[in-house]
Amino acid sequence: MTEILRTQCCVTGGGPAGMMLGFLLARAGVDVVVLEKHADFLRDFRGDTIHPSTLQVMHELGILEEFLKRPHQEVRQLDGWIGPEIVTLADFSHLPTRCQFIVFMPQWHFLNFIAEQAAGYRTFRLMVKAEVTDIIEENGLIAGVRATTPSGALEVRAGLTVGADGRRSVVRERAGLHVRNIGAPMDVMWMRVSRKLSDPRQTLGRMDAGRMIALLDRDDYWQVAYVIPKGTAEEIQKNGIAAFHEDLAGHVPFLADRVDELRDWDDVKLLTVAVDRLEKWWRPGLLCIGDAAHAMSPVGGVGINLAIQDAVAAANILGPKLVLGTCINADLAAVQQRRMFPMRATQKMQVLVQNNVITRVLKRDKPMMQRFPTLQRIPARVIGTGFRPEHVRLKRGAAKQKKVLNAA
Ligand SMILES: Cc1cc2nc3c(=O)[nH]c(=O)nc-3n(C[C@H](O)[C@H](O)[C@H](O)COP(=O)(O)OP(=O)(O)OC[C@H]3O[C@@H](n4cnc5c(N)ncnc54)[C@H](O)[C@@H]3O)c2cc1C
Repeated sequence: MTEILRTQCCVTGGGPAGMMLGFLLARAGVDVVVLEKHADFLRDFRGDTIHPSTLQVMHELGILEEFLKRPHQEVRQLDGWIGPEIVTLADFSHLPTRCQFIVFMPQWHFLNFIAEQAAGYRTFRLMVKAEVTDIIEENGLIAGVRATTPSGALEVRAGLTVGADGRRSVVRERAGLHVRNIGAPMDVMWMRVSRKLSDPRQTLGRMDAGRMIALLDRDDYWQVAYVIPKGTAEEIQKNGIAAFHEDLAGHVPFLADRVDELRDWDDVKLLTVAVDRLEKWWRPGLLCIGDAAHAMSPVGGVGINLAIQDAVAAANILGPKLVLGTCINADLAAVQQRRMFPMRATQKMQVLVQNNVITRVLKRDKPMMQRFPTLQRIPARVIGTGFRPEHVRLKRGAAKQKKVLNAA
């Protein structure tokens, strides 16, 4: 037996884009079902950064104070070693935003927080362990999705389906939306190494000829990103974990006494980097946002931010239409049109850094930053707020709230 659910909006994927959109729409009184294939929000490391523009959105929603009570680190500037020198890459202290810092918080804590806020609205429903397998198409209109759940097959029929299921989106693939692959020259190996009180107290990047490493301060451990040329992970693994220890310690000497915490390759996760975008983000009844519309490179750590900005723009444009039941193709096109410029400009910046810095460093060539020192100061605005930041315009719906979570 297939269970059938009917809703105004079905969001596939409970990542930053899907959870924020679900929350904003439910807050406005739209009936929303979010389908997430995992049982919870725990994932392989997918970035822990919450940028000033996302904090601004939280401020506008009245939930910032509550959010900042959760354990986190605040980073006001990003530093990096370029060759032997430590330079400031971005200084957020002058941004025209409520918070002039980036928050570092594991992504699952952030998503749990948004889920808790959304759960306060009667019109919000999050279904976990619900894996979307196909779209429902009727006379050229996408009318919902099919999913599998522990209790059997599920069909969610919706006026609008939103594909927020990430860069391997099933929804966009089933809808036949065309993906333009832009490509990335690198992959990233992620690992945790314990942190000592005597270690530097800041988030750091290290760039030497042939190697790029980022160290994110997580209080009692370092989240280490070890950037490698695309497709070379197997070769590195073949050389053995001891050679890897030696290389890591060679580039970050203060880790030398604990690199052997990485016992084998199970402690080192490979994340393949993709940069792509959809030419068209929508079809009648369907819209893709976040990584499902445009997979971002980890350069600048802006993917979560962009996913949330898409969600805010989609909620602003579509929310009032969904409330009235009048969402049409032109509204879906308007979301794409609104978000195209910030997304393209960010990818352009990422590709520029990939080609002129990362590729050169990995080839043991001098990066442009060493040739042209002014390039060392990545404008903090590009990372902190991004291009054309979005603001919450969708109003809270009347009398739809289950309970008030915070005195917002
Ligand atoms: C190595 C790496 C490091 C990164 N570091 C950073 C960083 O530091 N800062 C930053 O801002 N960004 C970073 N990013 C980018 C960032 O992770 C993404 O851009 C961001 O998570 C996109 O959010 P999203 O909601 O669109 O997609 P996702 O976060 O991918 O969420 C998609 C959700 O959909 C679910 N899902 C997938 N398929 C289905 C299905 N069939 N049915 C139901 N659910 C499904 C997934 O489980 C997931 O929860 C990094 C990316 C990579 C690869």
